[in-house]
Amino acid sequence: MFAVFEKKYGGIRTFTEERPLDQLIILILASGSTQEKAVEALAALRAEFVDWNEVRVTALHDVERVIACLGSKAVEGKASLIRDALATIYARFNRVDLDSLLEKGDKQITRRRDRLFAYFAERTPSLPPLMMCFLNGGKSQIQVTSSVGRALTRCGVFKKGTTPSKIRGQLEEAFSPEEQLLFVNGIYEVAEGLCHRSAPGCRSCPMKSTCKAAPEEIAKQKKVEDAIRAKARKDARRLAQKIAKEAKAVAERAAKERRKEEARLLAEQKKKDAIKKKAEAKKKAEAKKKAEAKKKADAKKKDTAKKKAAAKKKVAPKKSDAKKKTAPKKKAASKKNVTKKKAATKKKATPKKKAVAKKKTAPKKKTATKKKAVKKKVAAKKKPAKAKAAPKKKAAAKKKVARKKRK
Ligand code: SF4
Repeated sequence: MFAVFEKKYGGIRTFTEERPLDQLIILILASGSTQEKAVEALAALRAEFVDWNEVRVTALHDVERVIACLGSKAVEGKASLIRDALATIYARFNRVDLDSLLEKGDKQITRRRDRLFAYFAERTPSLPPLMMCFLNGGKSQIQVTSSVGRALTRCGVFKKGTTPSKIRGQLEEAFSPEEQLLFVNGIYEVAEGLCHRSAPGCRSCPMKSTCKAAPEEIAKQKKVEDAIRAKARKDARRLAQKIAKEAKAVAERAAKERRKEEARLLAEQKKKDAIKKKAEAKKKAEAKKKAEAKKKADAKKKDTAKKKAAAKKKVAPKKSDAKKKTAPKKKAASKKNVTKKKAATKKKATPKKKAVAKKKTAPKKKTATKKKAVKKKVAAKKKPAKAKAAPKKKAAAKKKVARKKRK
């Protein structure tokens, strides 16, 4: 049994340190590893740091680097566990050592020790019983708690109802002191960490191959797990149905809304079409009216044009008559103009002839003008007599007329 525990949980076979704190660090380092590697890591820590207080205040990664010789798997979480243990010891004892635990008979120290070990038990269940073995002078003292008794009876090592003292006695007889330390380390890890009262973690237990209760517990757990899985499936199905129902309701609501919206849009479109048709009809009617009015106006214009044309026709013959009347006059005038033009051209064409003729007729004209001037002078001399006689004649004529009127 202890070989199984050693393989799974590691641990120490003997106490190598004198001081309780050094032994506590070794126990932490050997958990999941071997005693040899734990001793090597402790030596590395001592070489790297001045004391445990320095380890307490050092960064985690630095501590991890120093204890890397434990192996990557075993070193996981060890640095933080060591630092937490040192911090707790410092907080509870106001110094970083546990030498006071070696003093026996002091109740206050015993109380402090118990409280400290209860704190360690929560993190590493095997630490308090192993430390108790160390504090008992190196002699193994298997403390058979209720959980250890339960695990051992489930395994079939002891019958149900066997007292803890009987169990301890038989174990101490069966195992050597070295084996007892490995057994304590392993059984406390199993009893406190896995073999719970209900639903023990048999699948992870290193004793499942030899444990008599393991098949039954595993079957029970399987049943429970199946029930949980079935319930989960049922819940998932119910949830899926609920989701599908809700989705269907949502889809129906959406379809209803869509139909409603489509109907609204259709009605709106119809309304728009009706308004458009009405407007088009109105436009057509207006256009028809305009066309009719234009037609009427055109007809009226045509009538007036016809009337005007008829009136013009009536006036036109008179104008032709007038033209006929004026035509001979115009002809005569034009003839006169032609003769005038001919005469003018003749005048222009024969200036020399005229000059010659003038020269020939000039003496005759002069004589004639002289004669005319003489005649005018004679006439002028005669005119005053006539002028004097004319008013008398007029008066006599007037008198004659007046007489005739009276008659
Ligand atoms: S196998 Fe199961 S019942 Fe047996 S000791 Fe381990 S945890 Fe307990």
